[in-house]
Amino acid sequence: MIAAVRGTRDILPGESERWQYVEDIARRLFERYGYAEVRTPIIEREELFAKGTGETTDIVQKEMYAFTDKGGERVTLRPEATPSLVRAFVEHHLEQQMAVPKLYCLGPMFRYERPQKGRYRQFHQLDVEVFGVEDASIDAEMIDLAWSLVRELGVREAELLINSVGCPVCRPSFSAALVSALGEDVARLCADCRRRAGTNPLRIFDCKVPADQPIIDRLPHAVDHLCEACATHFSAVQQHLDAYGIPYRISHRLVRGLDYYTRTTFEILSGSLGAQNALLGGGRYDGLVKVLGGPDRTGIGFAAGIERLVLALPEDAPIEVARPHVFVAAIGDAARREAARLVKELRSAGLRAQLDYEGRSIRSQMKTADRAGAPLAAILGDDELAKNEVTMRNMASGDQTPIARRDVIDYIRLASADEGAPMAQPE
Ligand code: AMP
Repeated sequence: MIAAVRGTRDILPGESERWQYVEDIARRLFERYGYAEVRTPIIEREELFAKGTGETTDIVQKEMYAFTDKGGERVTLRPEATPSLVRAFVEHHLEQQMAVPKLYCLGPMFRYERPQKGRYRQFHQLDVEVFGVEDASIDAEMIDLAWSLVRELGVREAELLINSVGCPVCRPSFSAALVSALGEDVARLCADCRRRAGTNPLRIFDCKVPADQPIIDRLPHAVDHLCEACATHFSAVQQHLDAYGIPYRISHRLVRGLDYYTRTTFEILSGSLGAQNALLGGGRYDGLVKVLGGPDRTGIGFAAGIERLVLALPEDAPIEVARPHVFVAAIGDAARREAARLVKELRSAGLRAQLDYEGRSIRSQMKTADRAGAPLAAILGDDELAKNEVTMRNMASGDQTPIARRDVIDYIRLASADEGAPMAQPE
């Protein structure tokens, strides 16, 4: 047997319905907020993420599935979607085509991380981005969209964290304040943090090493070092969130692992997830579009992990597994031909119909009907053919009723109205 690659997994029937449920709710919600889908390639030029996600990030330094293709070009499987959506926005001049460029995409992302529950090497994200809106009301609307997603999915124990990481005006002085507050303590931090202190001190807040935590807890907070414009923006975001009635907590540790964030950052956690408790994360990235060769436009968005949303669904989420409306059983060659015709008619009428392919006994066909979960069987034999009828069997009670061949579709529709059978279209 050849097993799936470590850190990847198959989403099998039984679970794939849960994915469809999450994706359907997300799509309908995003559309209500004015977002349109973009499907970007899974493979991109490596430099897109080196420039976009950032050279100093763990993602770019350690986790990319990057390689040289047969034409000698450096490419990578995408580790996240934001740089791809920015590239598509710039490459196709979407701002000339859309009143407000609000885009979403969903699909697999690839990071060479240590696999564990809720963390995979191929995982899937829902990604939402809007370009060119500077006002704090869009930050709040984006957070509201993320919160609504989690609420509409019925996720319990969700908590919203927000922060502001400032902008290129105030970030340097905050970084300097961090380094000076660290002082001699920098030597006592882990190797990653010592490196971060030199390259991007803000990233020290991402550290999970227990021994570092007491030192990190004493560090100054970004929100106390914001320039006036960033402080005004952050308080406006909070006012909007208050007006929406969305509960949140300011987390000074929330700097997020990517280089491009400016001002607002946010995350939604769920206590039901265990160690990998982040359902989604996002923020504003006002410099990124320009860095990637586009016009000077602001951006804000978030990415949610679909695996984690699926894991966090409540037990009683109304997830439907599509059972057949009817199983058509047939005895004899003539009846089997008629059964195939009937199944085709039923399917054309929008009903889910299955049949036996192997000419098995009626007993074993009834077993198959049961295993498939069909509430009804339509039985065809020589008798039925002679009378132009079908015997309809209620699989639960075993009751059988003869029905005229031409009335079969209506009968099944009526009998399975609770199963979501489509009603007849007026002719
Ligand atoms: P990020 O792009 O790192 O900000 O992650 C956004 C969201 O994607 C996280 O909150 C997780 O829900 C999900 N996520 C990130 N990395 C992984 C992974 N390796 N496996 C599963 N989900 C992930």
